[in-house]
Amino acid sequence: MKIPFNKPFTIGAELENIAAAVRAGHLSGDGPFTQRCHRWLEERLGARRALLTHSCTAALEMAAILCDLGPGDEVIMPSFTFVSTANAFVLRGATPVFVDIRPDTLNLDETAAAKAVTSKTRAIVPVHYAGVACEMDAIMALARSRNLVVVEDAAQGVLAEYRGRKLGAIGHLGCLSFHETKNVISGEGGALLVNDQRFTARAEIIREKGTNRAQFFRGEVDKYGWMDIGSSYLPSELVGAFLCAQLEHAVEINARRLQLCAAYRSGLETLAARGALALPRPEPAGATGNGHMFYVLLKDLDTRSALIAHLKARGIHAVFHYVPLHSSPAGRKFGRTASPMTVTDDVSERLLRLPLYYTLADSDVAQIVSAIAAFFHGRPA
Ligand SMILES: *Cc1c(COP(=O)(O)O)cnc(C)c1O
Repeated sequence: MKIPFNKPFTIGAELENIAAAVRAGHLSGDGPFTQRCHRWLEERLGARRALLTHSCTAALEMAAILCDLGPGDEVIMPSFTFVSTANAFVLRGATPVFVDIRPDTLNLDETAAAKAVTSKTRAIVPVHYAGVACEMDAIMALARSRNLVVVEDAAQGVLAEYRGRKLGAIGHLGCLSFHETKNVISGEGGALLVNDQRFTARAEIIREKGTNRAQFFRGEVDKYGWMDIGSSYLPSELVGAFLCAQLEHAVEINARRLQLCAAYRSGLETLAARGALALPRPEPAGATGNGHMFYVLLKDLDTRSALIAHLKARGIHAVFHYVPLHSSPAGRKFGRTASPMTVTDDVSERLLRLPLYYTLADSDVAQIVSAIAAFFHGRPA
């Protein structure tokens, strides 16, 4: 592929930091670079406590443990999301309850979520699709009135905002991803943001194999032992070293991605006006995006498949997602659907993501736009 869908990149001192960590002789977790990442996330996002994890998947699993769920408990979430959103709760024995998304933001429909609450509901997981905020005021109010835990899946949302607050720092718990396809990367990586004090101490224990080792290293206890269930959720210092350099350039990374999104938008405006495709709606009032994704909506599944093949023949890799969870084999087995899935089913067949990464050139965008225009040339809208 001449233009891949994604390309990992370095932007600052990633390699120097890794060399420094190796020289310092601290390779296991929670060394100085990891601590620097924690401080950055706490200060820049406004989280009470940030803990690096191996992935957003791992952060979601920690969040699910913290919610103290078991068989019979229900967790409301969109079906239009990545599998980890649901898997984390299924691993606890809980039931994902899928609701539809809004047609404008493709985010959890907060009205449908309110209707899906039952006496068994324990948590709600808003997924900030494409780094665009869910209606958090409505979701937090719902959670307060029904005593639910809000776990934000902010995998795509680093530094994006809702009414002046950073995504991931609004719910009781928030989960970020630093996977190489996200804005700020460390290959694999993630973070749990603990915004509600009642979860902080236990979050540290769960992350350290169920031990109070973190307290021991701070000198708060004189020996450490097995306190609770847990696993190994803390990444190596090498991951922290790489990530630290990326976080320090996060604003710059997002600014470039927003520029690329704007270039796509202006390049495709004419086709959108002709009705050949639809562009993402501008962010709703109060939401500030981070340029995580640029997608178009095609007329139907056949048009999307034909456009993917057309772009592929020109060396351009465009991808679609998600296979809705409610109709996936595991989703049908472990979950339940609580609303009509009209928007989810419709969008999942028509959405196409275009290449977007920090080092994508303006000329690449121009080339992709003209390849798309060539596809529609002479096609009835
Ligand atoms: C990427 C992503 C995840 C998983 O992130 P990992 O760091 O790869 O585990 C979870 N949820 C959403 C919405 C994502 O986009």
